Amino acid sequence: MPRPLFQPIVLNGPQGDPVVYVDFLFSRRALLFDLGNIRALAPRKVLRLTDVFVSHTHMDHFTDFAWLLRLLLVRDIEIRLFGPPGFIRHVECHLAAFEWNLAHKYEEDVHLTVTELHADERGRRAEFRFRHRFARENDRAVDLPGNVLLDDGRITVTAALLDHQGLPSMAWSVEEGRHVNIWRNRLDELGLGTGPWLSRLRQAVLDGRPDDEVIVAEWRRDGRLERQEWRLGDLRREVLRVTAGQKIAYVVDCGFSGENRARASSLLAGAHTAFVEAAFLHEDADRAEERGHLTARQAGWLAREAGVERLVPLHFSPRYGERVGQLETEALAAFRGDEGSGLVSARQ
Ligand SMILES: [Zn+2]
Repeated sequence: MPRPLFQPIVLNGPQGDPVVYVDFLFSRRALLFDLGNIRALAPRKVLRLTDVFVSHTHMDHFTDFAWLLRLLLVRDIEIRLFGPPGFIRHVECHLAAFEWNLAHKYEEDVHLTVTELHADERGRRAEFRFRHRFARENDRAVDLPGNVLLDDGRITVTAALLDHQGLPSMAWSVEEGRHVNIWRNRLDELGLGTGPWLSRLRQAVLDGRPDDEVIVAEWRRDGRLERQEWRLGDLRREVLRVTAGQKIAYVVDCGFSGENRARASSLLAGAHTAFVEAAFLHEDADRAEERGHLTARQAGWLAREAGVERLVPLHFSPRYGERVGQLETEALAAFRGDEGSGLVSARQ
């Protein structure tokens, strides 16, 4: 198993604003899941962010947009933000809270690209630039087939809109592309040299090309060009190993309705790590439903049903005081499928 690319950390503990910072191994890049209190993040970590995902704009999920901006100014930076319907206007209103009369005096530019996910695999996108005093620009409708918010060859982010007591709340998963590992010692044994043909081979595998496709292997040895033709299927068997990439998912602020469950499950399916809200104890299931939240037991059950490998419950309600530990215990018991921790019918 290759080392996992994603290195996620929960920022404020399970009781604080739910924020997950996802650092990447081997590259200067990070993702942010929700934008509540982020003061615990060192500025240098904030400057690694390329993409910020916001579930909805209740304060505990969006309050530190201004702080993020404060750290980005005044630098040359491009950053993408994603959120539910209405998100562009919420960003615009945050930006409108400040005066930008000196912006044109700076060389540096902060460039925000903001995307909203709507129903029916559609969305809206707009840009805001410091240089232009953060006026809304290039506002346009976009197609988001499969609800894919981002697919840059390295990661794919897929989202869903859940219902949070009448308010759309976005949940998402981030998947790393598959790994194609080439065994150097097998190449040696077969008398094959290395060269740019290996990246063509890797790409052919990732593209799912058929086994009988011919791959031309070319390399230089002692100044001479050597060349062999191989069937892709033979190379696949002899010199390659393909492993699935890592998947993480984030689901917060949603009730336990049938539709929410179906949408959340497909994001959670097969995730290595899932961050799921466990706001209330199951004894308070009525209150949870009233406020559009999951109980700890429901969170554990959802993650279990979806075949999640590791569940990280978060966003615990502060109302439990000293009993807060019970939320985690209840979520993990349901996740393991302990006796008495299940949900007899989906309605529960
Ligand atoms: Zn919340």
